[in-house]
Amino acid sequence: MERLFADKIIQNGVVLTVNSKDEIAEAVAIRGDRILAVGSSADIAAYRDDHTQVIDAGGKTVLPGFIDAHIHLGMYGLLDHGVINVAYPKVSSIADIQALIREDAAKKKPGEWIKLNGYDHNKLAEKRHPTKEELDEAAPSNPVQLTRCCAHMGVYNTLALKIAGVTSADQYAPDEVVLNEDGSLHGLLKETAHMDTSTKVEYSNQELIEGYVNGDRLLLSMGVTSAHDAGAYGAISTRALQDACLTGAVKARVNAMIFDMFGKQSGIRYIDSYLHTGIHSGCGNEHFRVGPVKIMLDGSSSGPSSAVIDGYTHDPDNHGIQVWTQEEADEMVMKAHKAGYQVTAHAVGDKAVTIMVNAIEKALTACPRKDHRHRIEHCGITNPELIGRIAKLGIVPISNPSFISINGTDYNRYYGSRVDFMFAMKSYLDAGIITAIGSDAPITVPNPMNSLFGALNRMDQKTGDTVGQMQKVDVLQAVRMFTYNGAYASFEENVKGSLEPGKLADVVILDQDLLTWPAEQVRDVQVRYTLIGGEVVYARD
Ligand SMILES: [Zn+2]
Repeated sequence: MERLFADKIIQNGVVLTVNSKDEIAEAVAIRGDRILAVGSSADIAAYRDDHTQVIDAGGKTVLPGFIDAHIHLGMYGLLDHGVINVAYPKVSSIADIQALIREDAAKKKPGEWIKLNGYDHNKLAEKRHPTKEELDEAAPSNPVQLTRCCAHMGVYNTLALKIAGVTSADQYAPDEVVLNEDGSLHGLLKETAHMDTSTKVEYSNQELIEGYVNGDRLLLSMGVTSAHDAGAYGAISTRALQDACLTGAVKARVNAMIFDMFGKQSGIRYIDSYLHTGIHSGCGNEHFRVGPVKIMLDGSSSGPSSAVIDGYTHDPDNHGIQVWTQEEADEMVMKAHKAGYQVTAHAVGDKAVTIMVNAIEKALTACPRKDHRHRIEHCGITNPELIGRIAKLGIVPISNPSFISINGTDYNRYYGSRVDFMFAMKSYLDAGIITAIGSDAPITVPNPMNSLFGALNRMDQKTGDTVGQMQKVDVLQAVRMFTYNGAYASFEENVKGSLEPGKLADVVILDQDLLTWPAEQVRDVQVRYTLIGGEVVYARD
């Protein structure tokens, strides 16, 4: 038989194959967009001819491309690229925010939206949210949206509130439209009031595509070769994302969740429109596919506004925000399940996780389906009983260990001993649950090393405080969750997620050996090369 020669060989590496035996190899041969062979450097040298390009891994880690199973690629990519990034420490006062608004207003026509994202009022010198008057002062003739880092609230100026038709607090649930002492609008809107107003903010198709392309460029430099997009602005985002992926402008492979962040009613209408087409999860190709439908059951872990069964440790009367009732979730999960969809929910608190587990259980009891792979995004706080039910039902939780590295100290304060079952990755492993890892960028940074830090150390990266250490996993376990399990979560483990002959050649080469590198310093590890489908899409040196 004639031997096939390789287009590329990666040699002299510590190759984490993530195959079923977690074998470690030395070299990988690539032909076209696929892996031809994996083995020792001597084995793989046999695939070399005059045309083969050789990459020396220098004795460092080679692994399958990272799969970020939960990222808002558009919102992340739009930061500093259509949407002004106002995260600390770039911005540390309201005056800083005003200066950035003025600068943008000078470039825009009157009436064009000015969009900013990422401030944290706790980190501003004034320790409060800016007011609508302060935004008006900087841009009297443009509508302004200033979204907080959690994405669950934002401040709007007078023109923006007028466009959205927000005139009084009675239009929304208590506390959603924040008022000044004299009863006038403050400008800060929360949850549904914020989401509804967000629908009025305008983005052009081109602006969105540029956001995705920018996000993609950053992901490739971090070794992320596949992204499960957790959604943004509904139809306009999905259209732009599909265009960007199928023209090759975005190189990472995308599994797009069906989600619109404009609140519950808008989300239901958006999902219903898909259910009526007959097209469902899995439609697409290796570059872009229709993912699960996603609903949003509760608030955020760091607000904190996640829906918890027992009140927060630091604020016992507060049980967070529950957006969907059990009955509403049951109806939507059943409907989407029957329509052939993979279903998922943003569920952070144990109350929200329980609602989703109940809903999936009811759907599967009424209409059994093998290999449904219904997911729970975040699946933040669980307990042994919930973990048992998740295992039994075959639910795929998507964990966010990067949240532990960024918010660990706050979590200890908010959730007390519940952190022992927060992003419970070791308990999932022990129970035979397949969990994948997502960064949830732009809520956190999408660098996989940040997630690995949280998974390996269960430690706040700033304070060094530990958080539920019993949930630590080791490097090989974390790498599997971040690669193969991510592929499993989108029904693609047969084509990617491990380095095995015949699979897509999505490969990352690091500048250190993860197996010997100290876990506390994993954030210092960088990517040297990223390959997607055998093509080098990022090279550091
Ligand atoms: Zn998210």
